[in-house]
Amino acid sequence: MTSQGIVGEFLSLKSETDADILTMQCGDFYEFFADDAELVGEELDLKVSQKSSHGSSYPMAGVPLDDLTPYLKALVERGYRVAVADQFEDGSGGHYREVTRVVTPGTLLETTDADARYIASVVAGEAGPEEGVGLAFADVTTGQFFVTEAADADAAHSELYRFAPVEILPGPTVRSDDEFLRRLREETDASLSLFEAESFAPGRAKHAVREQFGRETLESVGLESELAVRAAGGVLRYVAETGAGVLQSMTRLQTYETRDHLELDATTQRNLELTETMHGEHSGTLVDAIDHTVTSPGGRLLREWVTRPRRDRAELGRRLDCVETLATEALARERVRDALDGAYDLERLAARAASGSAGASDLLAARDTLAVLPELAEAIEGSRLADSPLAEVVARPDREAAVDVRSELDAALSEDPPKTVTQGGLFERGYDDELDELIDRHESAKEWIDGLAEREKRRHGLSHVTVDRNKTDGYYIQVGKSVADRVPEHYREIKTLKNSKRFVTEELEEKERTILRLEETRGDLEYDLFCELRERVAARAELLQDVGRALAEVDALVSLAVHAAGNDWTRPTLEPSGPIRIDAGRHPVVERTTEFVPNDLRMGGAATAASPERASGRADEERDFLIVTGPNMSGKSTYMRQVALIVLLAQVGSFVPASAAEIGIVDGIYTRVGALDELAQGRSTFMVEMQELSNILHSATEDSLVILDEVGRGTATYDGISIAWAATEYLHNEVRAKTLFATHYHELTSLADHLERVANVHVAAEERDGDVTFLRTVEDGPTDRSYGIHVAELAGVPEPVVGRADDVLAKLREEKAIEAKGGDGRGDAVQAVFDLSSGQFAATNGDRETHAPSERGSGGGPASGAEESNAAAAEHGERTMDPEMEQILDELESTDVNQRSPLELMQRVQEWQERLGGDAR
Ligand code: ADP
Repeated sequence: MTSQGIVGEFLSLKSETDADILTMQCGDFYEFFADDAELVGEELDLKVSQKSSHGSSYPMAGVPLDDLTPYLKALVERGYRVAVADQFEDGSGGHYREVTRVVTPGTLLETTDADARYIASVVAGEAGPEEGVGLAFADVTTGQFFVTEAADADAAHSELYRFAPVEILPGPTVRSDDEFLRRLREETDASLSLFEAESFAPGRAKHAVREQFGRETLESVGLESELAVRAAGGVLRYVAETGAGVLQSMTRLQTYETRDHLELDATTQRNLELTETMHGEHSGTLVDAIDHTVTSPGGRLLREWVTRPRRDRAELGRRLDCVETLATEALARERVRDALDGAYDLERLAARAASGSAGASDLLAARDTLAVLPELAEAIEGSRLADSPLAEVVARPDREAAVDVRSELDAALSEDPPKTVTQGGLFERGYDDELDELIDRHESAKEWIDGLAEREKRRHGLSHVTVDRNKTDGYYIQVGKSVADRVPEHYREIKTLKNSKRFVTEELEEKERTILRLEETRGDLEYDLFCELRERVAARAELLQDVGRALAEVDALVSLAVHAAGNDWTRPTLEPSGPIRIDAGRHPVVERTTEFVPNDLRMGGAATAASPERASGRADEERDFLIVTGPNMSGKSTYMRQVALIVLLAQVGSFVPASAAEIGIVDGIYTRVGALDELAQGRSTFMVEMQELSNILHSATEDSLVILDEVGRGTATYDGISIAWAATEYLHNEVRAKTLFATHYHELTSLADHLERVANVHVAAEERDGDVTFLRTVEDGPTDRSYGIHVAELAGVPEPVVGRADDVLAKLREEKAIEAKGGDGRGDAVQAVFDLSSGQFAATNGDRETHAPSERGSGGGPASGAEESNAAAAEHGERTMDPEMEQILDELESTDVNQRSPLELMQRVQEWQERLGGDAR
């Protein structure tokens, strides 16, 4: 075919696929042409040459057949969809080419990265995502397949965030929902792929699911949600259509209810830095801190546990029993860990067997990993672990079937197989009679060759004879130059070298043909045998996945135990609901790098242990809403996060960083913390803050844990306090969720007097000789002051400013109410006062005894007490003092009356009055 023809064929194949890049097999190479060649040249540093023909010239880049995988992987990881066209013989000496697969992020099998690679499909009905969203998550590299229906858009986003898919298929309705798509883009790194809408149609989708998992699947797994079925069907059809041949690895459909898991919205998952820090890093996350797994499936499972904590007390009890025994039985634990060390990623190996891409070394890795199971069983049986549910985990897979597969692989494959599966040399002797015979014949032919040099020397009295083989000459007899003219007549010269000559004989050529024939037949036979073997292994994919899953579970449990034992963590007591009591709790991540000061928590339920202090006057059972105050940087956020993480860890089935913990299982954790990164995304922080608050007020229940780190800070003081106040009342009276609320509005601490179950706690600081020490201890009662000025000093704010701020603060302390400037800011301002006893605002024209109607900004009146109001606002950081006035105050303060004459003093006072705009009489 001419190059014009090849390029033409390339371009025509390209136009038939929706892939971004096409690569086409041309003999021993995969080639990229035209724009695609330039693109891969740039992306992958591939050399681009020019293919010229018929006066036209085309960019061309290529990679050898066996080297395509890393290039494919790199392109897909950069977000491209790559189509691969293979070359086939057409039976009459010619060939044709056809696209055999399209590789996308979610269908890339050749991944080396240990993380799960989910492809998610998202389907909403006509009414939109608010009425329910069907979700299917498939990891073709491991065969995991989860299906559920989320109640609304928020719930769907939470699930999508948990699974962190690499590719998303938005189904009908969802794909035209701009807001839903915007959030998808914002909350995941997944690439969005549009796939034909019909594949998500109820009938076709149902058919796809039944075809994949069996007719009775939907009934047997109780999958009733049509949206979920549509999502599942859509993803199956998509995977089938990309032609990666990976459908077989999906052996089991797992349904789940979102309510089986702890509700964790995307914001909370991010705020708690479970798998990714606010800055997008792995280091510093909860998973990073606690992960001691020795296998990648174990690491994957641990991550899954952390992002999907449970609510089922029985299951958590089982995990905790395992962790407890493993934590105390150090010797057995190490033996288990040693055994696990020999395990490969069996789920991935199963998927590769199922897709037909596994090589001999993959099957050997599967064999060796299957051998880990009995080793584990042995380590467990000989110890106290035998009485723990860990023994059940290991007993779950069909151990006999596993032994069968292992023995079959053991008997079949040679220990050191070649890389390619078409060359021969894969199998052990004794595996197949026909193969053995071929090998025998091959070996005897080779023996004949091996002895040839000696025989020729003897027969013809020659010295310096060797027999060898190379690609161009085939087998040859090489004779030293000095004796080359003495070779017998039937020697035919084929090459002259510097010091020798090469010959062949008819006999040698005949043997060569035999050997080549035998090698080819052997290669073909071994390839067939290998495919059969691989198919038999593929047929046991489900078994391999079971074993892989069991090993991963043991690994994850051992990891939890290792961390518990090494860090003095303790087993939490879980109750179906009710109080949360933590003695000497620590932050699981911060404690790793800091000398951590432990703290207690008492919330809700009946009091079984005395709380140390009752400054708030509340009995334990009455407090389930804690207002946390304390200086900036004292540890409020850390304390609240530590509580959230301890509850979460308990519901992962882990020990927790505390000396004792009693956890009433919660149905969800909701957080709202100041999120700096939102600003960067161009969304007003206050809007985001309110959206988050709104979500919490809508979604949290009596059994939820709510963490609020400042609410209302993004707006003016009055707005802020009002919102915080009202939200507190609502959470307390209506939602009744267990809540920790850190606030800098000291006014809120008086809520403890109004609302039954609200109590104050504060993070203590100690002041001595003007220095503040953060004690990091959480004590009952509100804090009495803000230490912001001290932090300013620590931050290096110049001394005059710090000193001045101290003065202003002292002045403000004398005021009992907070004030702010209302009105239009042009002078005719209104003073409004927050009345602590009524929890309402009152407007006043400076006389704090006269309460005006409670609407803000109403009424008028001259601006009086302006300096107080400005100074008051200064503490809240929203308004700064008029610079002129500040200047005058400074001058006033620095005027030393003893150093000035009375006249001079009078003049100064007059000048100040003028500058203040007053009458200078
Ligand atoms: P806040 O929310 O009050 O501004 P943070 O919770 O951000 O304060 O804590 C400020 C600093 O104090 C952080 O660096 C944190 O690591 C440290 N810290 C907080 N609590 C403790 C503690 N209990 N023990 C030791 N260090 C702590």
